[in-house]
Amino acid sequence: MDKRVCAVEENRDKCPCTYEPCSKKGICCECLRYHWERMELPACFFPPEVERTYDRSLGRFIRCYSK
Ligand code: SF4
Repeated sequence: MDKRVCAVEENRDKCPCTYEPCSKKGICCECLRYHWERMELPACFFPPEVERTYDRSLGRFIRCYSK
């Protein structure tokens, strides 16, 4: 059995998300699950100027990278 431990502190340090009250910060599996259930992607998928808008939709992601 894999006994790997979540690197939550390191993840939190590297997380670019500017939505400060979020309890999922650094717990990337919960973050990804939360957004994917809403057909969204986590903050770290977006460039900073888009991340700040909190629009995490797939449509916004596709528009970002199809220029
Ligand atoms: S991307 Fe969403 S779930 Fe992840 S830390 Fe930011 S606000 Fe929380």
